[in-house]
Amino acid sequence: MASVKLHDINKVYDNGYHALHDINLEIEDGEFMVLVGPSGCAKSTMLRMVAGLESVTDGELSIGEQVCNDLPPKDRGIAMVFQNYALYPHMTAYENMAFGLETAKKPKEEIEKRVAEAAELLEITDLLSRKPKQMSGGQRQRVALGRAMVRKPDVFLFDEPLSNLDAKLRVSMRMRISKLHQQLKAAGNPATMIYVTHDQVEAMTMGDRVCIMNKGHLMQVDTPMEVYHNPKNKFVAEFIGSPAMNMLYGKLEIHDGKLAFNIGDNVFTLPDEKQTQASVWEGRFVYLGIRPEHLELAQDEDENTVSALITAVEELGSEKFIHTEVEGHEVVCKLMNEEKVLQAGDRCTFKLNMSRCHLFDETTEFNIFYNK
Ligand code: ADP
Repeated sequence: MASVKLHDINKVYDNGYHALHDINLEIEDGEFMVLVGPSGCAKSTMLRMVAGLESVTDGELSIGEQVCNDLPPKDRGIAMVFQNYALYPHMTAYENMAFGLETAKKPKEEIEKRVAEAAELLEITDLLSRKPKQMSGGQRQRVALGRAMVRKPDVFLFDEPLSNLDAKLRVSMRMRISKLHQQLKAAGNPATMIYVTHDQVEAMTMGDRVCIMNKGHLMQVDTPMEVYHNPKNKFVAEFIGSPAMNMLYGKLEIHDGKLAFNIGDNVFTLPDEKQTQASVWEGRFVYLGIRPEHLELAQDEDENTVSALITAVEELGSEKFIHTEVEGHEVVCKLMNEEKVLQAGDRCTFKLNMSRCHLFDETTEFNIFYNK
């Protein structure tokens, strides 16, 4: 059992590239933390630093109560699962899983017991005599997971472990890893898990909390629901959610005595509960963010409606995504169980549910309504 703490961590590579900037993050004992962000944001760098595979340029890294900036990987109580499995091709699944314990000179019975337990939990008992090339990608990844489990680490580190699997297998493996986390907790052996992915769906479904990163900076660390409903800034708002949150650029001005967002000839009035908070931004340009599910078809032009040209329609069976254009911005609307036939080239009227909108400062891109 161990928490992982990063205190004022910076990473500058030998070539002078500053990859991580002033990172402060506390991952609790037994927590499932997902590091997510676009490619190149330095999430692997951060994970590899925790693993001891990358040096810490500045700051303090602790696992449990121990500062481990200079501790070798093998003494950190961690086990890592990689994207490419990293299994030995000439060894069976059993031998791959047992290898680390044999090198650590564990007794034979202990090794057999641990491998058998892990194999049962991962449902790979009947594959133990197979070599990696005789197994599917998903089975190999389960063996790689088993090899990490038998070491009974305090901290599991996952580096995009599902990227090489097809979409369906990814879903089942992602549930298996979440289940493993719960099973270990239920059995009284909770493990801290740090999981790197660029896939926001994995982040949202697996993490107790998610840490959203951009260009080596932490953007927001919170539960999946908080980052979705209460994004701290424009980056998080647009990164989390699919289709992405719609973003319009316009000016906040008073109309009929109320503060409203103006773009072209369109006026969207802020609801009463948001008036006071936004009042400081009167007369300034801001971004208005609204999720596709917070727009709906309207019969007539009314308050907070907009007439838009449909540019594309995506039918997904139970839902459809209507792509439109509003003042040069693409705006997507998600409709559930909508019977009306809509097609590209049509004009339609949408109503924005302004009580669900976000406003972002033009310069800092901070969410004006962020409450925490
Ligand atoms: P991510 O995992 O988010 O895709 P990485 O942590 O792999 O990002 O890389 C973060 C940044 O650091 C990238 O710009 C990458 O090119 C750079 N980087 C990674 N490893 C090195 C290295 N050994 N030397 C110099 N730059 C590196």
